[in-house]
Amino acid sequence: MIGRRAFLTGAGAGAAAVVVGFDPLGGGWVTRAEAAARPERSSFARVPELDGELALDAASRDAVTTDLGNIVHQRPRAVLRPGSVRDVSRMVRFCREHRVPVAPRGQAHTTYGQGLADGLVIEMRSLRRIHALTADRAEVDAGIHWMELAKAAFARTPRRTPPVLTGYTQLTVGGTLSVGGIGGIVGGLDSGLQVDHVRELEVVTGTGEVVRCSRRRRSDLFDAVLGGLGQCGIITKAVLDLVPAKERARTYLLGYDDNARFFRDLRILIERPGIDHVYAEFTSAGTSPTYTIHATVFHEPAAPPKDGPLLAGVSATPEIQDTGYLEYVFSIDTLIDEVRATQGWDRLVKPWFDVWLPGETVERYLGDVLKTLTPKDIGPLGAGLLYPQRRSEKGRPLPRVPEAGASPWMFVIDINTVAEGPDVEPGYVAEMLARNERLYARTRDEYGGTLYPIGSVPMTARDWRAHFGDVWPKLRAAKRRYDPDGVLTPGQGVFGHRD
Ligand SMILES: Cc1cc2nc3c(=O)[nH]c(=O)nc-3n(C[C@H](O)[C@H](O)[C@H](O)COP(=O)(O)OP(=O)(O)OC[C@H]3O[C@@H](n4cnc5c(N)ncnc54)[C@H](O)[C@@H]3O)c2cc1C
Repeated sequence: MIGRRAFLTGAGAGAAAVVVGFDPLGGGWVTRAEAAARPERSSFARVPELDGELALDAASRDAVTTDLGNIVHQRPRAVLRPGSVRDVSRMVRFCREHRVPVAPRGQAHTTYGQGLADGLVIEMRSLRRIHALTADRAEVDAGIHWMELAKAAFARTPRRTPPVLTGYTQLTVGGTLSVGGIGGIVGGLDSGLQVDHVRELEVVTGTGEVVRCSRRRRSDLFDAVLGGLGQCGIITKAVLDLVPAKERARTYLLGYDDNARFFRDLRILIERPGIDHVYAEFTSAGTSPTYTIHATVFHEPAAPPKDGPLLAGVSATPEIQDTGYLEYVFSIDTLIDEVRATQGWDRLVKPWFDVWLPGETVERYLGDVLKTLTPKDIGPLGAGLLYPQRRSEKGRPLPRVPEAGASPWMFVIDINTVAEGPDVEPGYVAEMLARNERLYARTRDEYGGTLYPIGSVPMTARDWRAHFGDVWPKLRAAKRRYDPDGVLTPGQGVFGHRD
């Protein structure tokens, strides 16, 4: 028989355990040694043959018990490192049969247990090949990092780039497409979200079926998976748009200490032809918050940007940073890599808060909310961030954004709180989660905002229904069709797992 690739688990000194089955009665995986020792327990179901590994050892399971937030902890019973899409399909089918919850795990950079499960965690990073790279598209495995794709596309002749890139790029394609993917460093103004640049997906549904879907083919699945929080399928491959990349980036840094002047200049810059990307940072230094706009122009070396016309009417004096395109694209990665190496970033508690605001209320919102924040609400390693998005460029039903109004703009606001050290004072997490609940209720009820579900806001199934609004019936229908036994991605709590 072609080898059942051993699921080596390294349990115990020198001993390697091979998983051969799942005991539906005991609810546990069975190793070959256990099966041999207790031949009378023949009730265990045989796991399918795999190209990759199914690990049961403590180290593999411990490594996936939490996410970047370090708030929720859940230990899975097994970890799959798929060697192929077939492995994902076979194990989902198997888990469904035995009612074992399954969570795909990208880089696990959400902060409230969204990708955890007590059943099977699938490490999507095992699948990270670029299958095709042409002048206008790339076909990639879902476990690839955007950084890896950006480097490969830029190395091509002529140079290419994904039209939208998240601020931090060591995130998986499958992970950000499941939440939406706003253009933290590239795109955003007039380019929509990452989900707006997907031509086709390969998805393993909750029944284990492998389906290719697009706007025209199985569009109900396509609509339910992009921005769909892993509820209806596991993205295994994506065909993504690529666009021409310029060689250089010039960034104007503009500082403010009052809300009104900051927003006046922000509105000028987001409408200014020639500006390719804008985001802003804010702090909560007691009663006098500060704001910094980062406005960037991509260009060829022979045609540098004309600073005067680009900044006409702007009241702040700019500091100018000139870099190569990729140096700019990876600037947040450079910062995070630094705090990861020096401050133990991965282990710090991060009760993040992330919402969309309509253009009509964002100025009032930020002014009001910043008055309520203390320095602890962001922390020395945290950040307050604002990302503009032209509403007309967002074309997908998900993620949910605020209702349309008079303004053509919407904004993502992040209050990315980071605790000062790995050991937080008692009550810190509860205090921050209560703050997030309070802020979310205010954002939604007073300012017409919606949740951007990457952070740490406790949500009941009822909250989710309200959040999805008129998209809810379609999402629920897709869930019933594609994950009828509700095994996929329980950590989100969308269909009640967390109630
Ligand atoms: C420093 C930093 C900067 C960020 N900047 C941005 C930004 O600019 N724009 C932005 O939009 N977001 C940003 N984010 C948030 C980020 O997009 C989300 O946290 C995203 O989920 C991270 O991708 P991941 O690979 O870590 O996914 P995970 O956290 O591993 O997964 C997210 C969810 O999707 C599910 N999932 C994972 N893979 C798949 C798959 N293949 N198919 C189906 N479901 C899957 C998981 O189970 C989980 O529920 C940032 C996060 C960090 C830490």
